[in-house]
Amino acid sequence: MDSNTEQHAQSSHSLCEEVPHPTSHDISDETERDLTAANSADEYDEWLKSAQTHEVLLSPYYDSFVCGKNTKLGPKEDLAIEKSEKWIENTGVKFLSGRENLKKLCVLPKGHRGKCCDNFGDIFKKGEIRKQLKKKWNSAIYSTPGNDGYVYINRASRLYRFVLSKIQQKIIRDKKIKKSCAIPLQDASTPLLLCYAYVDYMVYVCNIKGIEKLLNTSAPQYKTIMDMLTSHKQHLIDQFAPRKIFDDEGYTMCVITQVRSRVEDFCDPTRDMRYDCRDTDIQLGHVECRSDRVVSIRGENLLPMSRRGNLIIGEHNFMKNTWIDELIRIIQLHT
Ligand SMILES: [Zn+2]
Repeated sequence: MDSNTEQHAQSSHSLCEEVPHPTSHDISDETERDLTAANSADEYDEWLKSAQTHEVLLSPYYDSFVCGKNTKLGPKEDLAIEKSEKWIENTGVKFLSGRENLKKLCVLPKGHRGKCCDNFGDIFKKGEIRKQLKKKWNSAIYSTPGNDGYVYINRASRLYRFVLSKIQQKIIRDKKIKKSCAIPLQDASTPLLLCYAYVDYMVYVCNIKGIEKLLNTSAPQYKTIMDMLTSHKQHLIDQFAPRKIFDDEGYTMCVITQVRSRVEDFCDPTRDMRYDCRDTDIQLGHVECRSDRVVSIRGENLLPMSRRGNLIIGEHNFMKNTWIDELIRIIQLHT
């Protein structure tokens, strides 16, 4: 297990979210920027402002039905500090502030019985699919994507203490040493926004056609969780209207190709989805793209997209018409 990952079971992550996103190309290939100007680190202020704005906007709604209390689960603080002392401190590199000892929040329905929890694992029947689903939401929601390890850690908690922007990480980037000491700003989130993102994600998981066979309907929280997800589904439909985010029968689909998703598009124990990928495999699609100036892992910003759909939309905003106009233009050119 990577020493920087979560303290609880999260030993191997599915890498199926790792299909090159237009904003995740090799950082070293980017045009060099003036690091003196960059040291002002304006991107942190913008990112923090974005996080704060979205928390204020989203919390009245989400906090009305999600527990949201602190859990004990979070990145290993002592290891993060050890790495930062070695590689970040005394280098002049600026990192995102206010990230001390962040913990995941409880995603169960408000007023639930029993212990607080960061996932809905109990509503699924025990077995291989449940294991795969847990890996899937850990890699998609709670962890950053894979990385080369030179500065950014290969998969770590999105709540990891040390966060560096693309510009700042260049100061300590050295292709001879894998420092693995921070996570990318564009992949970071806050406990509150991560909690909301998880609840959104589970709406899509629990509406996959065929998932009902895998649900443990006698789990203590089953009914309250499903009721919560049913009402939240309607909220998401309303938020994204006029775009369609479920198919005509209400099942989860790729929101770009509108092809209905199957359980094996989310998790498939018969193959290693990291290497044996299919166009229909479902990835986490962003409405507003990943960026060092906007927090993109948040409620109401993630949608299921197939690998194919994700490639088609690229960096465009799902709610704007630019990607559709481009496709229409291409069709006109070729017909
Ligand atoms: Zn709770």
